[in-house]
Amino acid sequence: MRLVDSHCHLQADRFDADVDLVLGGARLAGVERILVPGWDPASCRAGIALVDLFPWLDASVGVHPHDAANVDDDSWQELARLALDERVVAIGETGLDYDRLHSPILAQLANLRRNLQLAAETGKPAILHCRSVEGGREAQDALLAELRAFGRQPPPVLIHSFSGPVDYAEAMLALGAAISFSGLVFRRGEEASADVARLVPRDRLLVETDSPFLSPPGAPRARNEPEWVAVTARWVADQRAVPAEVLGEGLVDTYDAIFPSDRRSAVLAVARRQSRAERA
Ligand SMILES: [Zn+2]
Repeated sequence: MRLVDSHCHLQADRFDADVDLVLGGARLAGVERILVPGWDPASCRAGIALVDLFPWLDASVGVHPHDAANVDDDSWQELARLALDERVVAIGETGLDYDRLHSPILAQLANLRRNLQLAAETGKPAILHCRSVEGGREAQDALLAELRAFGRQPPPVLIHSFSGPVDYAEAMLALGAAISFSGLVFRRGEEASADVARLVPRDRLLVETDSPFLSPPGAPRARNEPEWVAVTARWVADQRAVPAEVLGEGLVDTYDAIFPSDRRSAVLAVARRQSRAERA
């Protein structure tokens, strides 16, 4: 099965010692694309540095709601500059987290708007994290309101690690959003995700691990890794009643369409030529 991991924090310090082995395991499992999202200035720089080491990866730059209150204007200017870099295919991760509230809500909203504006300016999709307290939907509704405030031309967005009710997913899809599923779908309280997995159009459907977090069943609890995206992808294929191989082809096509990159295309073309030459 061909696979992508649209959200994988390989720059997290839990991967410092063996990121090359983790990527080898991902390749063996069929993972062909990985997006490494930043969450604050340092992790954004580190994600871009990983793309230099492993050019088939992609990076994104932005500020996570947890870090919303901790980024000064100079750092933001740096991120806005980095957003134009060809190694950077998306803005984020950003969004709203009303569950853990590591930053106050007003700071989260200001941060979200700044990230969405950057997505609108660059045309690169904003990767959106959105969590409410268990059983609630305040963050989802606030996120919808922020996107609707753009009027007819909201920036392109990807809802990462989907969490929320079906009508929220429908409203996001109506705004043009893409939706990515993670190991969160296996957690108690996330049962609506099964219905949502059936209703996302093929060309807006992605999967991810959110490594090192959100281990799906079978993955080590201490550290999720990109190869485990296979568990979530197979779950999505089951919900949609399509063969895993068919779903996998669609995931790669969708990744390339949502995160177009001449840089990555060139890197992958060289790798294909090399492997053909090795086989000959
Ligand atoms: Zn994340």
